[in-house]
Amino acid sequence: ERDLALETSATPVVTTDGVPLRVRANVSSLAMARLAAQMGAQGAGLVRTEAVFGHCLQAPSVDEQAQVYGEIAAALAPHPVAIRTWDVGGDKPLPFMPTVVEANPFLGTRGLRAFVHDPRLLLDQLEAICRVAAHAEVQVLFPMVTTRSDVDLALALLREAATRAGGDGLPPLLEVGIMIEVPAAALNVSALTDGLDLVSIGSNDLSQYALAADRGNGDLAAWSDPLEPAVLRLVRATCEGVPAGMPVGLCGALAGEPGLAGLLAGLGVSQLSAVPAAVPLVKERLRAGSMAGFREIAERALDCADAASVRALLGQHADARR
Ligand code: PEP
Ligand code: MG
Repeated sequence: ERDLALETSATPVVTTDGVPLRVRANVSSLAMARLAAQMGAQGAGLVRTEAVFGHCLQAPSVDEQAQVYGEIAAALAPHPVAIRTWDVGGDKPLPFMPTVVEANPFLGTRGLRAFVHDPRLLLDQLEAICRVAAHAEVQVLFPMVTTRSDVDLALALLREAATRAGGDGLPPLLEVGIMIEVPAAALNVSALTDGLDLVSIGSNDLSQYALAADRGNGDLAAWSDPLEPAVLRLVRATCEGVPAGMPVGLCGALAGEPGLAGLLAGLGVSQLSAVPAAVPLVKERLRAGSMAGFREIAERALDCADAASVRALLGQHADARR
């Protein structure tokens, strides 16, 4: 056993058969970004900006945002940080956004949808992100993308913000991605990736929408296991639908379970983003197995009848859990 205390962000993750993978961290504050770097995270796979600024009663200015995003990027440099744009609605109220009253908030004006009619707060955020991307490795991630026109809107707003930031086109160090958390986006991902550099699966929401079970309702636990084969098939469909070589991240809670790392890699996920504390173990598990073995386990998991069988399968195969 390696000493996990020696894990650093510079120690790479390569499977025993030579496939490089990345283990990044989900962060909700600058302090968490610093912790993630200490835990050996290869950048941030998800910066939850609505959490970073969740205490603000007034919308933070472009300057304030650029300052904080810059510090988060610096904490994890030279690895890129994936900054998610305001993900509001459903379970995530934001004090400086008007609350939309609607019958089904989780099926409502969430994420990117909240900015279609009035994009001002999103434009400010994108301008701050573009400023930081002039000198740091930054990815921007748009949440709750469902259709091609969502991607087109996101790209148009990003170009407008880049111009405001004083650039000539998009900043050179900026990569553009979307969250895949709606089943329709997972199944149609090949139509969404034009103009993008990466996608990142939000398995918390993807499970909620695939299984029609509110992610925050404990009484529905029996219906909300993200290891249900239908959810795994959506993960696989996403990985198969992106152009060859495009990174597919996964940043839901699943990515923080070391015992699932091999399965997710076997499904085609190339970057896992976990809670900082889980990073060393996830890295270790991926290093200890082969991609050929991970793929074999993934195939078997896809053939399982239910989540319990997938869990039993993983229990039976120590290799998949390493
Ligand atoms: C997800 O939906 O899996 C995700 C990573 O985003 P959040 O949990 O913030 O909705
Ligand atoms: Mg989500």
